[in-house]
Amino acid sequence: MEIGKNSKEPITLSDIFKGFSKLSREERLKALMQAGVLENADIEYLQRGGMKDFSLGEKFIENVIGYFQMPLGVATNFRIDGRDYVVPMAVEETSIVAAASKTAKWIRDSGAISTRLIGQDIIGQIQLAKVKDFAKFEAQILKFRQLWMDLSNQEVAFGLVRRGGGVRDLVVRRVPRGDGTDMAVIHIHMNPVDAMGANIINQVCEFLKAPIEEVTGEKVTMCILSNLVDTRLTEAQVILEKIEPDLAEKIEEASLFAQQDPYRAATNNKGVLNGMDPILIATGNDWRAVEAGVHAYASRDGQYRSITEWKRDGRFLVGTLRAPIVVGTVGGVTTLHPTASMCLRMLNVESAQELSRVVAAVGLVQNLGALKALTTVGIIEGHMKLHIKNLTLAAGADEEEVPLIQKKLEEILALKKRISLSHAIEALRELRSRVQTHS
Ligand code: NAD
Repeated sequence: MEIGKNSKEPITLSDIFKGFSKLSREERLKALMQAGVLENADIEYLQRGGMKDFSLGEKFIENVIGYFQMPLGVATNFRIDGRDYVVPMAVEETSIVAAASKTAKWIRDSGAISTRLIGQDIIGQIQLAKVKDFAKFEAQILKFRQLWMDLSNQEVAFGLVRRGGGVRDLVVRRVPRGDGTDMAVIHIHMNPVDAMGANIINQVCEFLKAPIEEVTGEKVTMCILSNLVDTRLTEAQVILEKIEPDLAEKIEEASLFAQQDPYRAATNNKGVLNGMDPILIATGNDWRAVEAGVHAYASRDGQYRSITEWKRDGRFLVGTLRAPIVVGTVGGVTTLHPTASMCLRMLNVESAQELSRVVAAVGLVQNLGALKALTTVGIIEGHMKLHIKNLTLAAGADEEEVPLIQKKLEEILALKKRISLSHAIEALRELRSRVQTHS
């Protein structure tokens, strides 16, 4: 691809995915603009370093002293449910974007990614720490259930109702306190449409506090949403057709390891989140909420397990990810943060559901890339080669020294199969003493 040769020629995402990583930053921006992913104003904004208004930070958090910058990249080659996506990723860790793009290319050539949402509703919790008679309490609540749902929709969630969402269920749970008495927890189920919905559901729960106390004579202790949203799960599936049987078997074995052993499951899920978190950050979503949900869901049967699973099915390898991924395309800072709103536009998703499906797909693809590397060349080759760049900079090499030190470190890596910062420091010391001797 020669970007910019004829700017009038329409360019598709498939076109720009070819050789994208080999382009300079300028050429990448031009390619994204030609494919209609970015606009002129976005390019100017990104060229300025991606900051519009320094005082913006003050509007988001407290005691602001500056900004923390993170690289923003794009993962290429993603075709999800038959649609091409340019996936924005804000992340500091080397090789994540490269691995996602490379693995997505593999699937693009030899398989397919499909996604779906299972359920719509998020959960709000109203806790009554001590109820005298749980059965009586439950009966009282259920009597008013429909009225309170209707009132919540009329008084608080009317904006969501107008958009096809709102409060849809009210459930009473008995939670044993461990001392023979009961705690009651009321769950409010609400479809937040395109918002993550935390603030809206918290308001619904607070709104119901007074009527609940009045009808039951019991005391509400606290109200807050739950991040374990097992009522709104996102599923991604990868089917690989052309895969060597030996590799498919190794990936299946690696997957079983992560299903059965929590020590491995934690690292496996970290690898999945390597793909998910950068999109959440780039789009201004609450990645702590998704992380909390993912880990809680991973432990749902009492043992912490992988949220992904890979199995052979005849000549196919089939991978599945299922997790609560509650995100918004409105609300929070999604539209207030200029980079987040630009990234959302770049992704071109029409709904929060579509965003969560993309996030799930990228998490699953990232997992496949990691499992392939781990069961073939190992973590060092793929990861450390790219990490060499970071070590070179950390050792203090300047622009001229960087390529020389990188070359030296690659030689050490090939020879010793390991590499560390001390190698970089030593290589730099040697280089500088050689230069001094010659000058
Ligand atoms: P929000 O408070 O900004 O509300 C979203 C707004 O968008 C609503 O007023 C709604 O009416 C409006 N809206 C416009 N178009 C809409 C559409 N198509 N669909 C749905 N709503 C639409 O945001 P929120 O989503 O309620 O809350 C998200 C924020 O809450 C995040 O910043 C998160 O960090 C924070 N939070 C999280 C937790 C947690 O996860 N435990 C707890 C508290 C707060």
